[in-house]
Amino acid sequence: MIDEKCVLCNGPMEHKYNPMKEWNVKGFLCGKCYSKKIFEHYPGKHERVNQDGH
Ligand SMILES: [Zn+2]
Repeated sequence: MIDEKCVLCNGPMEHKYNPMKEWNVKGFLCGKCYSKKIFEHYPGKHERVNQDGH
């Protein structure tokens, strides 16, 4: 049994994700919140494909 909960949504975590230090989050995040945080802090990371100059 996993009795730990996501610190953001308080939901159960199937997988625990370690937040980055600069997020100032204590505890673990669920997958959803982790991706959300990634997107908040690094917007466009997955969209911006910089292939200019190739
Ligand atoms: Zn969550």
